[in-house]
Amino acid sequence: MSGEVPTRFRYRTYNLLRDGPTLPKYTAECVGGDDAVCGAVSGEWADQRDVDRWAAAHVAESGHLRFRRSFHDYVEVEAAEPPASTRPARSSG
Ligand SMILES: [Zn+2]
Repeated sequence: MSGEVPTRFRYRTYNLLRDGPTLPKYTAECVGGDDAVCGAVSGEWADQRDVDRWAAAHVAESGHLRFRRSFHDYVEVEAAEPPASTRPARSSG
């Protein structure tokens, strides 16, 4: 029969694992400013405290008080083994 709609869906679980050799990176952008967003950026740092120190120094020199902090890392994705209760039963024939 054409136009048949599938009535069962299977969901799969994945595990996201931090990519071992790469370290997370932290950065900040100044979104303060009087008439326009300043846009000054900290660059990437391996330690969040370095980003915070950069922001504090930027506040001291500019008076800007608002920042957007970001964090990024790399992950690898692997399919997880489904729980036994959700595995399809094996047919006997
Ligand atoms: Zn600024």
